[in-house]
Amino acid sequence: MSPLRLIVIAILLYIGYRLLFGGRKKVNRGQAPKEPNGEFPTSDVLEEDPVCHTLVPRQQAVSWQDGDEVFYFCSQECCNTYIYQKGEQG
Ligand SMILES: [Zn+2]
Repeated sequence: MSPLRLIVIAILLYIGYRLLFGGRKKVNRGQAPKEPNGEFPTSDVLEEDPVCHTLVPRQQAVSWQDGDEVFYFCSQECCNTYIYQKGEQG
């Protein structure tokens, strides 16, 4: 095999590599993209409702602070249930 042919193969491999991986210019830099419409991001943190154990996005959840702890609920009803149960226990 001639050296020229090796160089051609190397160039073809390089072009193929660039076509596969070089075209992706949108690099995720590890930070969440800004939401243009102000809608809550779909990658919002999910919190587990301690009453019905539903996972709810933190921004949509009903939050209730108990001392240093903050609890998140899917609805005000679950929040009331939790406070009621906690009152019965304590
Ligand atoms: Zn709930």
